[in-house]
Amino acid sequence: MAVDATLPYDDQNIFARILRGEIPARKVFEDDWALAFHDINPQSPTHILVIPKGAYVSWDDFSARASEPEISGFVRAVGHVAREAGLVAPGYRLLANTGLDSHQEVPHLHVHVFAGRPLGPLLAR
Ligand code: 5GP
Repeated sequence: MAVDATLPYDDQNIFARILRGEIPARKVFEDDWALAFHDINPQSPTHILVIPKGAYVSWDDFSARASEPEISGFVRAVGHVAREAGLVAPGYRLLANTGLDSHQEVPHLHVHVFAGRPLGPLLAR
């Protein structure tokens, strides 16, 4: 079900539980600012999720409230993950669903990293 990105942060959301180690995830990267792990239901041969360590509902929440170190740390982590996965030359797509119309399902900011095949048009028509 899509989530309303204007709601307060729910610390029982599935990615908060992954961050606390309560639920396993196939981790690919972790530092002070971000955690990256494989999506449980991949939509492309490579489908990695990168999340900030802080409690942010969405891109909107993060871009409004996060500190400069959190923002730079997170953005650099996304780039690092894609680079280390060898995705720069073949190319990759980033996606951050925000709110109801986007069909955001998990209310903790996550950037999808899609790659591994030609990804087609940006949006379903
Ligand atoms: P959204 O629609 O919110 O942008 O994307 C949520 C993503 O989280 C989906 O691609 C979904 O497959 C993934 N996901 C949901 N629950 C879990 C989980 O427990 N573990 C992992 N690794 N991915 C999950």
